[in-house]
Amino acid sequence: MSAKTIVRIDQAPARHWVGNGFHVHGMFSYNRNPEDYSPFLMLDYAAPTQFAPNAGKPRGVGEHPHRGFETVTICYSGEVAHRDSSGGGGVIGVGDVQWMTAGSGLVHDEFHSETYSRAGGEFHMVQLWVNLPAKDKMTPPHYQAISTAEIPRVDVNGASVRLIAGQLRQGDSHFSGPANTYTPMNVWDVKLSAHSRISLPQPEGWTTLLLVQGGRLSINGSDTVGKAQLVVLSRSGSALDIHASEDAQCLLLSGEPIQEPVFGYGPFVMNTEQEIRQAFTDFHSGKFGTLPVA
Ligand code: MN
Repeated sequence: MSAKTIVRIDQAPARHWVGNGFHVHGMFSYNRNPEDYSPFLMLDYAAPTQFAPNAGKPRGVGEHPHRGFETVTICYSGEVAHRDSSGGGGVIGVGDVQWMTAGSGLVHDEFHSETYSRAGGEFHMVQLWVNLPAKDKMTPPHYQAISTAEIPRVDVNGASVRLIAGQLRQGDSHFSGPANTYTPMNVWDVKLSAHSRISLPQPEGWTTLLLVQGGRLSINGSDTVGKAQLVVLSRSGSALDIHASEDAQCLLLSGEPIQEPVFGYGPFVMNTEQEIRQAFTDFHSGKFGTLPVA
């Protein structure tokens, strides 16, 4: 099996605020070389941050629209509350995942939960945007709330792999993540203990990305990579061997590229400029619905 090679290692850019609750490194975005990351469109990394207790209104980002893709929020510490105009909503806590299909369009808001807000403490989260193929961009919006208990945790040689989406074969056993996806992909949380070495082959031809959240590791014999770096691997090859020189945590994103044009503007990602104009028209004429009254 030939190995996926490292195409480049991206350093985390300076953080920016999303609303007043999410202090994120924009690891990549569809605005720059979207074909490199397909089927993924954007990755905002809210690296671990301490928030002081806040007795007033919870921090976060108020009502805003999306169309044409999915937002996937993975919570590592803290809690996020969400409401959307398709009736989805709820609070996700440590280990939980919110997989929201914006499809034809919705409005939502995203805040620290009231409980977390009052207590304060560490906040650590990832928000990933996953593209939809053209034929599914106008699918009705819906929402998958995935609790940590539903996510299989597979032990691989001193490492644990949490399968949020996708398939993992381990000997004669076969494991599947709970998220329903429109195109084939793996979204896995990987935790390695110091000096562990694991093999997690990914399909030939798939985009493969690794966000390092902590510790140090090397991939297919490379120099070590560390905290807040994003490793972009080649589509060719399939072997992916990870060695941890100290306890490490990373998010593995792998998926079949969607070979279609990407035309996006802010919260809308479609295939053509005309479709973006239509998204603004539809949003401003109220077609994305309204949030439930608090
Ligand atoms: Mn949003």
